[in-house]
Amino acid sequence: MEEESLFRYPLRPPGDARAERREPFVETVREQLRNILDIALPLEGERVVEVDGFRLLGPERGRHGLQDGRRRGTPAPPLPAARGAALENMDNVSLYEPRIAFLARQLESLLSLVQLECGGRPVEVDAFRLRRPSDWADAPVDDPADILNHAATRCRCDCIFCYNKGSLPSLTQPAREADIEWKYLEEQLRHYNPRARRGLFPRFGGPRDVLAHPHALPLLRALREKSDRPLRFSTSGDNLTTEVVSALAELAPLSLDLSLNSSSPARRSYLMRDPRPETAIRSLPLLAAAGIPYAVTVVAWPQPSLEEMLRDLGETCRYAADNHARLVQVNLPGYSRFFSPRPLFDSELVWEETVHRVQELRRELPCPIVVSPSMYEENLTRSRKNLAEVTGVVPGSPAARGGLRAGDVILEMNGIRVRNRPQARDLLTLFQQSGQDLISVTVRRNGGSASLRLHAGDHRYPYEPCTSSHLGAVFMGTGLRSSYLEDLRGMIAASGARSVLFLTSRLVRPTFEQLLAEHPSAVPGDVDFRLDVPENRYFGGNIILGDLLVVQDFIDHLREYAAAEGRRPDLVVIPSSPFQLSRWGRDLTGRPYLDIGRETGMRVRLLECRPIWE
Ligand code: SF4
Repeated sequence: MEEESLFRYPLRPPGDARAERREPFVETVREQLRNILDIALPLEGERVVEVDGFRLLGPERGRHGLQDGRRRGTPAPPLPAARGAALENMDNVSLYEPRIAFLARQLESLLSLVQLECGGRPVEVDAFRLRRPSDWADAPVDDPADILNHAATRCRCDCIFCYNKGSLPSLTQPAREADIEWKYLEEQLRHYNPRARRGLFPRFGGPRDVLAHPHALPLLRALREKSDRPLRFSTSGDNLTTEVVSALAELAPLSLDLSLNSSSPARRSYLMRDPRPETAIRSLPLLAAAGIPYAVTVVAWPQPSLEEMLRDLGETCRYAADNHARLVQVNLPGYSRFFSPRPLFDSELVWEETVHRVQELRRELPCPIVVSPSMYEENLTRSRKNLAEVTGVVPGSPAARGGLRAGDVILEMNGIRVRNRPQARDLLTLFQQSGQDLISVTVRRNGGSASLRLHAGDHRYPYEPCTSSHLGAVFMGTGLRSSYLEDLRGMIAASGARSVLFLTSRLVRPTFEQLLAEHPSAVPGDVDFRLDVPENRYFGGNIILGDLLVVQDFIDHLREYAAAEGRRPDLVVIPSSPFQLSRWGRDLTGRPYLDIGRETGMRVRLLECRPIWE
């Protein structure tokens, strides 16, 4: 019997006479190069070069044209110089548009075999541009804020806790001068289609202060011309002068997230190294007078001491409430190992004390105060999770004017029984979008019940219908949808698995366990179902968010699980949210989730779900 080779090669279609005369390998290179050059414009330094031929780098060094294997390519003059600009960070590109990273790898691979030529002159291609950017303008750009993010590349403050310190390589953006950045922004604007909610590329990376960009106002005006959707962005507030606030007021609807951190000039200077802290602090009454709804954000950073932070938190929340802030968001302080390899403080103590202080302040102040991540507060202080409990109401909102109060638990809306928080939020959004004016609400209050009537059209500043989808009711985060369990059940049934491992996070686990107890049929009785929480080893520090787990964390956890148990589960289910930032199913390092199954040999499925943060 003849020996068979495992190596397989495709055959050319019969009847291709030229194939007889050409070397198959040269043909392969030519075809691949032509395909790549149809998409990419090669660059030699700053210049675009029209590649028209190549030579193999091996012993056979004859020249091969690109258009026809039997004749030399026609020399093409170099095109005008490309814009001087820093090259893209390919780690970042791998995250948001891995097709371009693939193209780069293909070209690099060819360049290891061939010398490219232009009119017989060797050209040293070291980069490329996209030939037709419009071919790539299919990224989901849902909101003008996605375009604004491209301008959020600088900040005049230097917070001691800034999350941009020790950023991941995949999230680092190339530094560019403001005028060159403006050209990129113009390109983004050209390809932004608000109706189709599509655009060129999303920007991944820690956003800084949009208003610190010298072209911020022209960009905001250009966006306002393209879209009537609300413009929402974060700012340190360090240049929110009377003139800037007046200019912003003309761009309504618009809302700001103001990183105030402290209403005390001394503490703001200490935390944010802001040389002119008064500008941001004085901007609150200016924003209110201009009718611009804004939220105040505070990072509860426990330095120089926990006591000072807690005392200042009270004063800052009071100042925000006095100046008609829509909401105050208190961020529990977090840091990764890239920020500090050593523990910086007793995280649990700081987080718990902060939550308790916020709960005290909620009883004293009219404006809603939320803790982020809100599930931490829920796990710490609520034995029953996922309730439609209102933690605050935006002053002037239909919810506030209709009599809804912090502490109310919504039981019924327009005769529909409300079972959990996601349902309450969905119903409020639905009623608001349907244009329905009157909504009857029954709530549990102080051990009894109360009936309320909310008028969707009855509101005033700082509530703004287009920036709030729950009529001004504020909840402890999104909650978990019971529909996830239906999806899980379908997934288990389709797989035929007898043992299932569900990986979640420390924050979500208690609510997920409660949902499972409420819906016991979600997992067939004969299935061995386990819940487990991988460690956030990659980000390290005090990070506990499941959405910051990366592929390697899951791989490590599954290997250790299999070693400890002495067996592998038939099916591993992971919530999709850690891989949703990139529409290519990649984690924050740019690695595809499919690597989890490839590396562990386990069957891995993603359960579609939304992030728990807002
Ligand atoms: S305001 Fe935000 S972006 Fe600016 S330094 Fe502070 S944390 Fe960083």
